[in-house]
Amino acid sequence: MMTKVRSSNLGYPRIGESREWKKALEQYWAGKLKKEALLDKINDIHLANLSKQKERGIDLIPVGDFSLYDHVLDTSVMFGLVPQRFQYSGGSVPLETYFAIARGTDEAVAAEMTKWFNTNYHYIVPELGDRDPALVENRPLQLFKQAREQLGIVGKPVILGPVTFVTLSKGYEPSTFADVVKQFIPLYCELLRELQQEGAEWVQIDEPVLSTTVTREQTALFHETYQQLTEAAPTIKLILQTYFDSVSHYEDIVSLPVKGIGLDFVHDDGQNLASLKQFGFPEDKVLAAGVIDGRNIWRADLGDKSTLLAEISEFVTPERLIVQPASSLLHVPVTVKNEPALDPVLLNALSFADEKLEEVVILTKGLNGGETVIQEKITVSRRAVQQLNQSAGRNNTEVREAIKQLDSTRAERQAEFSQRKKLQDEAFQLPLLPTTTIGSFPQTAEVRKQRLKWRKGELSTTEYEQYIRAEINKWIDIQEELGLDVFVHGEFERTDMVEYFGEKLGGFQFTKSGWVQSYGSRCVKPPVIYGDVVYQGPITVKETAYAQSLTTKPVKGMLTGPITILNWSFVRDDISRYETANQIALALRKEVSALEENGIHIIQVDEPALREGLPLKREKWQNYLDAAVYAFKLATTSVKNQTQIHTHMCYSDFKSIIGAIEALDADVISIETSRSHGQLISAFEDNTYNKGIGLGVYDIHSPRVPKPEELTRNIDRALRVLDPELFWINPDCGLKTRGTAETVAALQVMVEAAKQTREKL
Ligand code: GLN
Ligand code: ZN
Repeated sequence: MMTKVRSSNLGYPRIGESREWKKALEQYWAGKLKKEALLDKINDIHLANLSKQKERGIDLIPVGDFSLYDHVLDTSVMFGLVPQRFQYSGGSVPLETYFAIARGTDEAVAAEMTKWFNTNYHYIVPELGDRDPALVENRPLQLFKQAREQLGIVGKPVILGPVTFVTLSKGYEPSTFADVVKQFIPLYCELLRELQQEGAEWVQIDEPVLSTTVTREQTALFHETYQQLTEAAPTIKLILQTYFDSVSHYEDIVSLPVKGIGLDFVHDDGQNLASLKQFGFPEDKVLAAGVIDGRNIWRADLGDKSTLLAEISEFVTPERLIVQPASSLLHVPVTVKNEPALDPVLLNALSFADEKLEEVVILTKGLNGGETVIQEKITVSRRAVQQLNQSAGRNNTEVREAIKQLDSTRAERQAEFSQRKKLQDEAFQLPLLPTTTIGSFPQTAEVRKQRLKWRKGELSTTEYEQYIRAEINKWIDIQEELGLDVFVHGEFERTDMVEYFGEKLGGFQFTKSGWVQSYGSRCVKPPVIYGDVVYQGPITVKETAYAQSLTTKPVKGMLTGPITILNWSFVRDDISRYETANQIALALRKEVSALEENGIHIIQVDEPALREGLPLKREKWQNYLDAAVYAFKLATTSVKNQTQIHTHMCYSDFKSIIGAIEALDADVISIETSRSHGQLISAFEDNTYNKGIGLGVYDIHSPRVPKPEELTRNIDRALRVLDPELFWINPDCGLKTRGTAETVAALQVMVEAAKQTREKL
């Protein structure tokens, strides 16, 4: 066939249907698998992943997206960018060194890890500056050859583009950005030339940075870069791929000297389609249209997608059109096939990676003249989506009514902070610089073992609850002995801070194998918010009130905030995310009242994920932050003036969102700071934050027990800019990953440091 629309994919989950990939890596790291055996297993998984895409009928199958850890790290080592602190003498980077950079060794700390754009995937931050980059191995080329030799697949190599790569890196002066990018251009040219020589036809070059806020000067750099890359390998069809939002400066970008442009038509708020309609699309280019959601798990209504593609087709002839997911499928689980236990209506409306590829192929067939063939599939998909939409779970009258009444629901505290503080000071009679912790105490192997036994039915609920009570008891005693001022119950009953709430609220379901890669071999299984979120009764009251009954010190209630629950789940897409956030907030509001009624007068609502939900484009931040603040306040403001609301944020990089943090109107916030103390304090110098604040005074991410001088130094530094009347002393995050002995020892040092500082004041 001559004029044929092609189907394509941008990236496929690495982990395998039963997380074989994770297991192999972890066995190898534990010394239980030899290197050759690891590579064999990994190779099998990789080939199986490619075969699956071929079997489903994808025309352009990505190669090179697969990784042993992370694709950004793959790019770094491909350029020989091994930080100086690791042994390396040039040439292709050995596997041991590759893992050492990612995971650290006794001698050298791991490279930093951070979030990949607005996803929950974390990449290893490249460190430039230690040595000059060189193309020490052509990884995409190796994988291209392997796919062809072993499976007869002429794949589409996927590479991370130079502008995005340098943007994600550290170790250079921002003012030299363009020069640093230019240093990489010859290497990319070489890489592409070699691919061309080997017969690669299509190459996908990812530049997701184009979906963030980009200046016009930066787009000039794109022109220069891509001019050179195209000249280096003129017969290669280079697709410049963007995703996660609309492309900035559409007109400039679609006129770049490349063969194709990949656009996201799912997460663009309609902007890419609007630009396409307004400016058209160059006649000499291929449009790779991302129409299937690569970030969420819902089955597509193929009727809607066909309509979208029909609109796009008005601007692009069939041979210049590629149908594909809107982003890599790395962010969704592998297949719904392994979820027989899910509610059938929900199951039928889900689509993971494998099913999404089928959707892409069906839509492509539809465009290639098989309209009648796909008509039936459209009907089936539409019915599946409608059935879920019409299900009782998505139409809870009470929740819908409460959402309608939001305008008349007060989302403000009764009095302002200064008045509340007076009342709270009187009520709690805490010393200056009160000490507390962030919520969780060590989840020892024993705690996890007991929970597992209970889940398997080997332990009755009464026995399990007794066990949890005993743990609470033990830790109330420890806190008593340590002399902390505000206690917590320890969160022993929780596996995960989102899952625990999801299990007790209506509107959530949990998959059996819905794993996605978070970082390295670590996978997470996000809850599925499929329906209206319903409060079904107290969630945390039993454990918290029990803890409070054991002591005269205040016990802090511990809830996960609405935005964190939202950001760490797969969220229904038939209503706006913000409406779901408000539904969660209304449920939490009931929990907050229940705690208050049961004698809990300090309540912490954690929002560690608030910052990571920020949209990629700066101009969309305010909307998001307003919605986040509103949801938080909806959850927390029903309380009396005397009740103290705390919140915890896991990050210290909050300078740019301080307005929103202030607007939360929490009585006390705690922020992670111990790893960047100086920087954080400086953020306060020019700010007027005037509510309670706990700056983490030691780093819980290390088992090391801090020295008293380190803590007093941190505290003194903070008190140079912060009012001692408002300052709290706490570790910088929850202690669930720590051991018991080190936790007790560290808290002892912390309480002692607080005492010493108080005496000096
Ligand atoms: N309260 C939670 C805990 O202590 C907070 C966890 C977090 O910040 N991610 O574990
Ligand atoms: Zn934290």
